[in-house]
Amino acid sequence: MNQYYNSYFKVDMDQVIRNFNKVQNYIGSNTDIIPVIKGNCYGYGLVPMAKLFEEGCQVKMLANAAIYEAVELRQGGVTCDILVMGGIPQHLLQGAVEYDLQIALFEEVTARRVHQLAKNAGKKVKVHLKIETGMNRLGVRPGPALHDLLNLVKSLDNLEVVGVYTHFATSTADYYDTFAVEQFEKFKEAVSQIETSGITLKYIHCCNSAATTWYKEAVELCTHVRSCSSILGHMAMEDGREPIGLIEPVEIGAYITNVHDVYPGESVGYSRYFKVTEPMKVATLSIGFADGFYPKWMRGQGPVLVSGHKTRFLGCCMDQSFVDVTGIPCEIGQKVILIGRDGDQRITTWDMEQFCENTFEYLFGTIGPRVERIYCTKTGC
Ligand SMILES: *Cc1c(COP(=O)(O)O)cnc(C)c1O
Repeated sequence: MNQYYNSYFKVDMDQVIRNFNKVQNYIGSNTDIIPVIKGNCYGYGLVPMAKLFEEGCQVKMLANAAIYEAVELRQGGVTCDILVMGGIPQHLLQGAVEYDLQIALFEEVTARRVHQLAKNAGKKVKVHLKIETGMNRLGVRPGPALHDLLNLVKSLDNLEVVGVYTHFATSTADYYDTFAVEQFEKFKEAVSQIETSGITLKYIHCCNSAATTWYKEAVELCTHVRSCSSILGHMAMEDGREPIGLIEPVEIGAYITNVHDVYPGESVGYSRYFKVTEPMKVATLSIGFADGFYPKWMRGQGPVLVSGHKTRFLGCCMDQSFVDVTGIPCEIGQKVILIGRDGDQRITTWDMEQFCENTFEYLFGTIGPRVERIYCTKTGC
């Protein structure tokens, strides 16, 4: 196994469990949590995080978006229920049958095909009806379209409807967002339409992390909430409000490979990117945009912690980057912190989101496999 990582992404697994428990306490014991671990669990690493939720938090169901990752979970030994929420290319539907995955269902082509595949295998596939309420991504509209789909599904013995869900398009925008409220009204209509048709729903879910914090009525109607950002200590409200008391369990770091002086008239990096106007000390780091870090952060003089001081990036290349260490004691070989604490200084994901004008999901979901994932508990890493 290759252990020669240039950078690391360290997760405090005990803190993840504490966050999970805080979210659980916040929503109360009548509602369960389905952790959503899409996008490599927001960069945290797929199978280790799934196992933490399965074994450390005793969850019964995980959800993700790409069937590729659902199959990786099964191959990695995850045995709890898995719901694939994203659209599945038709030629991959066999995977749902083979790996006992639950899927989103919202139209007839997939219904007939999955039924046939399940029948051939002598199995049943469990489906969650996905309701179109405003996202216009995947979903069936309440009313006649849902009526027709329900009739079809009831005639297909190898499909079992176990759940219903929808997704808010704007729930992160504001508390009591009016569009989310409209979406919830449509969702309620769909839930009663399904129940009236004689189907018993084991899973009713519509809230992501943000909606979970403010939409009490929606949480109460549901059997489950679908959360991940909150459990990872990152509350997704655009105004930064966070009523649960979550703590970010991550530290991302890299190493200094060179420290050198530069002088006025010189420049740093390709295309003479950073122009030097006064004498400075520059450190070169073992991390670059090919590791999946957002170039705007490194090129736009985003923050970084060196020896407990908050300083700035000066630029980046594919595998390396530059930071300003003028007046900061530091040496070749030491680590620097991109996200996390160093002495009294701290850089959070929230800071990074503000700086990059991009979301946690994007900024973390793109962090690549060359960054070592390290999982720590109180007994060690
Ligand atoms: C990503 C996602 C979630 C979880 O969102 P968080 O804000 O991280 O809690 C829930 N539902 C769907 C459909 C998603 O795509």
